[in-house]
Amino acid sequence: MLRSDPEKLIRKVMARFVDEEVIPVAREIDEKGEFPFDLFKKIADMGVLGIRYPKKVGGSGGNTTLYCIAMEELARGLLSLAAVTAMQCLMATNGLYLYGTKEMHEEYLRPALRGEKIGAFQLTEPEAGSDLSAVRTLATKASDGYVINGMKTWSTSGPYGDFHTVLCQTDPDKKLRGLMFFFIPTDTPGFSHSKKFETLGTRTSALSEIYFNNCHVPPEYMLGELGRGLDVLLTILAEIRIMTAALALGLHRAAMDDSIKYCKERVQFGKPIGKYQLIQAKIANMAVNLEAGRLMVDKVTHQIDNKISCLNEASMGKYFTVESACSATDEAMRIFGAYGYSMEYNVQRYYRDNRFLLYGGGTHEVLQTTIARQYLR
Ligand SMILES: Cc1cc2nc3c(=O)[nH]c(=O)nc-3n(C[C@H](O)[C@H](O)[C@H](O)COP(=O)(O)OP(=O)(O)OC[C@H]3O[C@@H](n4cnc5c(N)ncnc54)[C@H](O)[C@@H]3O)c2cc1C
Repeated sequence: MLRSDPEKLIRKVMARFVDEEVIPVAREIDEKGEFPFDLFKKIADMGVLGIRYPKKVGGSGGNTTLYCIAMEELARGLLSLAAVTAMQCLMATNGLYLYGTKEMHEEYLRPALRGEKIGAFQLTEPEAGSDLSAVRTLATKASDGYVINGMKTWSTSGPYGDFHTVLCQTDPDKKLRGLMFFFIPTDTPGFSHSKKFETLGTRTSALSEIYFNNCHVPPEYMLGELGRGLDVLLTILAEIRIMTAALALGLHRAAMDDSIKYCKERVQFGKPIGKYQLIQAKIANMAVNLEAGRLMVDKVTHQIDNKISCLNEASMGKYFTVESACSATDEAMRIFGAYGYSMEYNVQRYYRDNRFLLYGGGTHEVLQTTIARQYLR
């Protein structure tokens, strides 16, 4: 496959950073369950957070292909660090970039791309998961802006985010057409959050509920044109899905790399276990799925960069790569035998972390439904 120089360069730079600075500390970070702000700042200093934004707003002038390569490499090191980075590059900042004023760019976007402020993106509520029409957080028009009341759950970076892009209902009678995103800085009076959730995997990306109690925001904090609120999401939905696929490729590679190493070292019945055909079949399946997933991600990222509509391909890419990563991490656990179950090796983390990929950007049941719909119309 032909690769541009920037694509080769970003992979090389990120791979070196991950090998030297992330992998050596990943297990300790995961055990502590604390977000590594120092590593996040280093990622920012490398220009990664602004990778898909133009230089005029403080970005690095890259594109979605470069973004996804960087996220794949980071996920190979530590999925939760990659997940927060991916959120900061895309969902947490894209509405601010597209619809924010110059002042909002100066106060929030530029510092966010420098890693000095952390953003979050809020759709989910206790009664509104896959079904966004059930969103109840209410934005009520006031004489000088909007007043927000309600709550969100599963807020990645909720406990330490500096600003939130929040889906609110402006007119319950209008259902989906009443939904609008609002920009809400954490220091807005009336904003609060719960304590951090305990989770199975991706333990360093802190999750919480967040609450809005009469949060007053100025009119320019409504992102986009009234009645077209979901554009903030729809313009990046394919990119969210293929970014999640890139994260899956990184996790898949980590599981496969560790498995290959272990297969060569672990001797049973007088031979390294990699000499047994049933173990070889596992490695072969990991390799084939990885290659197929890479082709899907590569195709979609180039489609996005060339402004070719590709939501269905992105959904297929997310579905395939995440299922493949789940299978690869499961097979890695089997290859490691009892040691896979031990906290001494990293494969247990890959196995726990893989579940995270199943939800964001659409659950797999929802994705299967939307993919099938393309063929059954
Ligand atoms: C680690 C983590 C981080 C997250 N971070 C964020 C975040 O930062 N911001 C945010 O907004 N949200 C976040 N989420 C929430 C995530 O986006 C939701 O979990 C997701 O939208 C699914 O909603 P739900 O979990 O309520 O599942 P539900 O929608 O209640 O689904 C439950 C089950 O029913 C199935 N189902 C639902 N509808 C259908 C249908 N029509 N057809 C067939 N099956 C269906 C689902 O596939 C699933 O199996 C996070 C979740 C996790 C686990």
